[in-house]
Amino acid sequence: MMATTHALAGVVLAVVVAVVFPESAAAATPIPVLAAALGGLFPDFDLYAGHRKTLHFPVYFSALAVPAVAVAAVAPSTLTVSVALFLAAAALHSAMDALGGGLELKPWLGTSERAVYSHYHSRWIPPRRWIRYDGAPEDLLAAGLFALPTLYVFDGPIQLGVYAALGVSAVYVLLRKPMVVVAQTAVDAMPEHVVDRMPERFVEDFR
Ligand SMILES: [Zn+2]
Repeated sequence: MMATTHALAGVVLAVVVAVVFPESAAAATPIPVLAAALGGLFPDFDLYAGHRKTLHFPVYFSALAVPAVAVAAVAPSTLTVSVALFLAAAALHSAMDALGGGLELKPWLGTSERAVYSHYHSRWIPPRRWIRYDGAPEDLLAAGLFALPTLYVFDGPIQLGVYAALGVSAVYVLLRKPMVVVAQTAVDAMPEHVVDRMPERFVEDFR
């Protein structure tokens, strides 16, 4: 799934808190919404180093989110609600990745059995491929569906942010496959010794 899909899914958690607890910080300031969006993005910051393993913790983020939610419930403040939403969104992201495609560079071929790493189980969780790959048309559909509750509940900068995320997603979906064709052409044109020096993960499927 696209990072934007994950961010929009995380923000849905903030929307739920804002609707169920209209007196809470989630409804009063945009900070908890921002924290949820960042939590939804955060695991994918490992894109260049051990992607879907280094910062993806399907079990541990969930285990951390539980006490954080409890603290936010007992002592609600902008800080505690934001921390709880950040961790819950990061947990949701890590779990959602199991429903997407594998780690290969052409994930629409469906050849990888690695979707997301569970440090708790010490193994890769296989891809379910409900969303075949990040940037697939159904990925954009999911992003659109996750955007709806937020667009309905919030306006102003939050709404603008959601539209921006959808715009970025749409462009990414259009470019997803052409980008790989460009990368393939580039790797094909490079001398062997240059390709040898590139990180294996970014060239292995192009050889
Ligand atoms: Zn991810």
